Amino acid sequence: MNFIQTRGYDENRPKMVTFSEAILSPIASFGGLYVPEKLPELGEAFLIKHLHSSYKTLAFDMLSRFEIDIDKAVIEEALALYDDFDDKNNPVPVVKVRENLYVSELYHGPTRAFKDMALQPFGIVLSSIAQKRNENYLILAATSGDTGPAALETFKNRANVQVACLYPDGGTSDVQRLQMVTEDAKNLKVIGIHGVFDDAQNALKRLLASSEFNAALREKNISLSAANSVNFGRIIFQIIYHIHSYLELVRQNAVSMGEKVYLNVPSGNFGNALGGYYAWKMGLPVEKIIISSNENNVLTRLIRDGKYDLRTMKVVNTTSPAMDILKSSNVERVLFDLFGAVRTKELMEDLESKNAYELTSSELATLRECFDADFCNGDEGKAYIKETFENNAYLMDPHTATCFKSFETCSNPEIKTIIYSTAEWTKFSPVIANALTGEKDAQDIVALESISKTASLEIPAMVKGLFSKKIVQGSVIQKEDIEKEILKFL
Ligand SMILES: *Cc1c(COP(=O)(O)O)cnc(C)c1O
Repeated sequence: MNFIQTRGYDENRPKMVTFSEAILSPIASFGGLYVPEKLPELGEAFLIKHLHSSYKTLAFDMLSRFEIDIDKAVIEEALALYDDFDDKNNPVPVVKVRENLYVSELYHGPTRAFKDMALQPFGIVLSSIAQKRNENYLILAATSGDTGPAALETFKNRANVQVACLYPDGGTSDVQRLQMVTEDAKNLKVIGIHGVFDDAQNALKRLLASSEFNAALREKNISLSAANSVNFGRIIFQIIYHIHSYLELVRQNAVSMGEKVYLNVPSGNFGNALGGYYAWKMGLPVEKIIISSNENNVLTRLIRDGKYDLRTMKVVNTTSPAMDILKSSNVERVLFDLFGAVRTKELMEDLESKNAYELTSSELATLRECFDADFCNGDEGKAYIKETFENNAYLMDPHTATCFKSFETCSNPEIKTIIYSTAEWTKFSPVIANALTGEKDAQDIVALESISKTASLEIPAMVKGLFSKKIVQGSVIQKEDIEKEILKFL
């Protein structure tokens, strides 16, 4: 299968690329993104076939339908990483929480957040492509907390790949920081910077575009790549768990085969939601995809009013920081799928030049046939955490909690909903402790112990162990010194 481009063809880059090429250089003509030429049609036959398949068998068959240029042995090796999730037989448990409300838990991997679902297998795929081509890659990552640990974990000790990961010192939770600064491997470099996430992100963009930096890398025979969430190599692994979660509902006799459900997704860069959209297009019975946001509610406004307008918006810090995003990159792939390349290019150019775009009323109607949306503020989220813990004996993190509001405001209560849970309680413990007991500004370790007591839950060993692990990645530097620091490491 070939990959085509969301903004059309500029006659400079290749017109179409393979999966490997789309992974290695994810930016397409006119700054667009790569998308599959045509989605495989799976239909109900595929669902019936895999009703009793393991996660890996389902995943392997789905990936084969994409006919990607990756060896079967590599795909098998990549999928084998799901064996290291909490339950070898089911990496993604789906739990009934309330009448007609099921939670699909995407956080049972090594770094306790949903980024592992895609980044774990992606690491093997990228490293194997690099080895096959006899090339070396530097992966740059800027993180506000979850992508960094997941990227380091997946590329640790992998051949032909090195990682430099930038994080804002003081801008992540203790657990997230410890997951990064205790990673001990020769091919990993973690750099704290004095600044906020945007400083890290801007530094990364500058380096990616810097001809000086690229020339210095070429001298060392290294090419530059990024593992960010527009990479189709990540998206492809995010289609699988939507299909799996639906099959879990069928297996639990919660729905009959073919019955439609809502997929309710806590959204930031729209990778998770896009995976659900593609699964739907490929034949999953979906009523609608519900997009849940926090106070950074640009997606709610787009889906309700057809306006993507950043002119009056500024990113605010919230209790669900992984969703503190205003430029939600993967929306572009939905625009392409619904309205085509010419219109997508026009809309994205409006966004770049005017900081806003507006859909026509008929385009908005088309979008709303697929999506609905609402946002949930921090206090509402904490109330849902407390209420769901007390009434349903279910503990969730602040990202997942945003879905409980849209569940109430956007869905027909007769139709079943799958809410996607994107982080374990251990990753955002101070907010959860505050929601449960009112305690304020606790350090992670104090909050973890308090929640553990209140909810009678063990702190997982891999989280507890972080607090006594040796810090091996101590650099915290000024943002002006990043380039020098990375070249020193290489
Ligand atoms: C990354 C992340 C999200 C947002 O996912 P997108 O695919 O970017 O929409 C939500 N919750 C958590 C905990 C995350 O780490």
